[in-house]
Amino acid sequence: MDESLSPTAAAAAVPTEGAAAQRRSGASSAATKVVLRKGREDRVRAGHPWVFSGEVYQLPPPEADGEVVAVEDARGRFMGLGLCNTKSNILVRLLTRQREPIDRDFFRRRLEEAIALRARFAGIQTGPAHPGAAYRVVHAEADGLPAFVVDRYGDFLSCQVLSLGMAQRLPMFVELLAELLQPRGIYERSDVPVRTLEGLAPTTGVLWGEAPGPDLEIVEDGARFAIDLVGGQKTGFFLDQRLNRGRVRDLARGMGRVLNTFCYTGGFSIAAALGGAEEVVSVDISPEAIALAERNARLNGVEDRCKWLAANAFDSLRELERAGEKFDMVILDPPAFTKNKDSIPGAVRGYKEINLRAMRLLQPGGVLVTSSCSHHISPAMFQSIVADAAADTRKRVRQLELRGPSPDHPVMPAAPETDYLKCLIAEVR
Ligand code: SAH
Repeated sequence: MDESLSPTAAAAAVPTEGAAAQRRSGASSAATKVVLRKGREDRVRAGHPWVFSGEVYQLPPPEADGEVVAVEDARGRFMGLGLCNTKSNILVRLLTRQREPIDRDFFRRRLEEAIALRARFAGIQTGPAHPGAAYRVVHAEADGLPAFVVDRYGDFLSCQVLSLGMAQRLPMFVELLAELLQPRGIYERSDVPVRTLEGLAPTTGVLWGEAPGPDLEIVEDGARFAIDLVGGQKTGFFLDQRLNRGRVRDLARGMGRVLNTFCYTGGFSIAAALGGAEEVVSVDISPEAIALAERNARLNGVEDRCKWLAANAFDSLRELERAGEKFDMVILDPPAFTKNKDSIPGAVRGYKEINLRAMRLLQPGGVLVTSSCSHHISPAMFQSIVADAAADTRKRVRQLELRGPSPDHPVMPAAPETDYLKCLIAEVR
């Protein structure tokens, strides 16, 4: 074996002197090698984009943090190029399996490919001439831009950056996005705790152009929604449920009462009301979300048919059941109940409880629309939770659809982490 490829020598190379200057220009020489331990390369070889720090023979020097490194297997075979951070448990996030320059042109192509995918497959008009358009422009790993999320809300873009390498390149991404999408402003919503795992502080603020104002609105399926890009949850709106809200709108035609729990700013509620439901009762624990939901109802002229409760949905479900209330459709879209493997059993109990209560609240023949956005709960696990809830309530459940996120949130089949959203629709009697 070539000495330079041996495991011990492999990590010794340091980035070339001009690394910082190259990074500013977007270029990189990939001088540092990271070698996967023998027997630890299968996941990466199968297409997963992360190399964990425990999987390599030797960590590169801290100078490699944020830089492009080459990943090789123990026999010296090239596996790809990625961005390194020795301070993170995810040591390398792979960008490509090819030997190619990782420069500004590379990242521009990735952005162009992301935008083109939305135009081609997501039924979304992506150009600057579509005010009110709302979709995910970049979905991180699944778009070949690890740890980087860009959402478009009308004339504004909202960005979230979750790795050191991408954070260092943010000024370049902002320039490219401004050029490709011509927004009025680009706003950063990197106020998430996982940033600290990369040694980055949570941060927010205007990156380019104007600050988004309180009048920012999007149009989804003909419905208008006010977006709080600065103070709202996530990057402002839960765009992944777009087509599922559209499905609820169709299902609500001719329905009497609909209950929407974990409603946030009323996405599913307004879809149901516009679809034709006579009354929509919605619950969310966040008073700010409920205030915006009320505004959204007025924007769509359905405020007379919408009732809003700022409350804990677990309590509301119990109280509605005790009061003997019945609904034709119940929607459940809770936040992820588990973000790690240890808390899966508790999460399963939580999902089961709300599904069980929702089933009891349904009229015979009513429709359950139940979601889980935790990637630790697989589709099969989710189905068995619904089955358990049905067994406990002695209900007969006929699953009609098991849906995923809208196609502007593509899934990377080799990375189960990118396949997180399930939306199960069933008839219950
Ligand atoms: N369905 C929404 C998105 C829901 S996100 C849409 O289409 O836009 C999950 C929501 O659950 C958040 O708004 C959060 O405030 C709310 N939430 C979290 N815990 C809750 C609880 N215990 N009771 C009620 N709402 C809760």
